[in-house]
Amino acid sequence: MKKIEHIGIAVNDIKASNALFEKLLGHPPYKQEEVVSEGVKTSFFMNGPNKIELLEATDTNSPIAKFLEKKGEGIHHIAFDVADIAQEIVRLQSEGFVLLNDIPKKGADNKLVVFLHPKSTNGVLIELCQEIK
Ligand code: ZN
Repeated sequence: MKKIEHIGIAVNDIKASNALFEKLLGHPPYKQEEVVSEGVKTSFFMNGPNKIELLEATDTNSPIAKFLEKKGEGIHHIAFDVADIAQEIVRLQSEGFVLLNDIPKKGADNKLVVFLHPKSTNGVLIELCQEIK
């Protein structure tokens, strides 16, 4: 597993949060993207070597909508960069981690992603992502 690729923050209103984070970081998001299959709108801010992803639900049944309903706005997940996602899935499953999806899916920002169940990671939703080349 490599560096933290990004931190995902669930927000109620991505337009308002884009403006807020633009004020905070001093520059606009470099990318905005809707992932229809996940029911989210995302935006990505680069800040030095670090990346922040904002997520707004577009569908009341989406995982982000459920998170916002239960916990409100805040840090939703931490994503780690991996070189070989298939190999990491096998390794983590053999270590007893529970995956939310064990077949990588196409996420935002040109990545293949899988999520680890927060039950097996101290309450933190962990995303693994591998850049699609
Ligand atoms: Zn993410």
